[in-house]
Amino acid sequence: MIRLAIQKSGRLSEDSLSLIRECGISFVSSSYKLKTEATNFPLEILYLRDDDIPGYVQDGVADLGVVGQNVLVEAGLPELEVEPLGFSKCRLSLAVPRGEAYASVADLQGKNIATSYPQILGTYLAGHGVQANLHTISGSVEIAPSIGLADAICDIVSSGSTLLGNGLREVETVFRSEAVLIANRALSAEKQALLEQLQFRMQAVRRARR
Ligand code: ATP
Ligand code: ZN
Repeated sequence: MIRLAIQKSGRLSEDSLSLIRECGISFVSSSYKLKTEATNFPLEILYLRDDDIPGYVQDGVADLGVVGQNVLVEAGLPELEVEPLGFSKCRLSLAVPRGEAYASVADLQGKNIATSYPQILGTYLAGHGVQANLHTISGSVEIAPSIGLADAICDIVSSGSTLLGNGLREVETVFRSEAVLIANRALSAEKQALLEQLQFRMQAVRRARR
């Protein structure tokens, strides 16, 4: 039996469940349950908050997980990735108030930047030789400039309409993300074989979709 953690409810949930089903795995899912067992494959599915998934897989509480690369890299565990999944594509971008002059990342030197991704943003800024004050907030990042909490933000963008609605404009792409399959680094031989079967099926599903 192998344990796979997926997001309980959010932007990854539906596509994660569809992927497992398209792999030919049957199970009954219900929104109030925390776990479920597949009926035709030795798989147990755990429903968790996405932020908790990398740590649980690292610790072996779950053997496998489906999570966004943004969350995986922010958790400092990129080495757990085993397979890109091609859905939940988004980007992490820097944005500044629309009326503000902006020529390059260097303009952010010494500025206050609000984000939920201090690790990824810190690495990006350091790579550009920029030092800024990062303020970590967990939600509603895009309102920070309008309430005077920050000069700029770094947040997930897919369409840009949320930025526009808050008077912000996107100025740099910091990180591109998609959902990935992750795995504990010390699986038993038996679990490793199950992982390989799953990866084989997932690759076939992706090829069929193209
Ligand atoms: P949880 O309650 O599980 O912590 P959350 O609110 O942190 O959920 P969601 O908003 O459901 O997370 O996003 C989950 C993941 O989906 C993100 O980490 C990212 O990888 C991806 N994602 C976020 N926003 C978008 C988007 N607009 N389009 C596509 N993918 C996105
Ligand atoms: Zn989350």
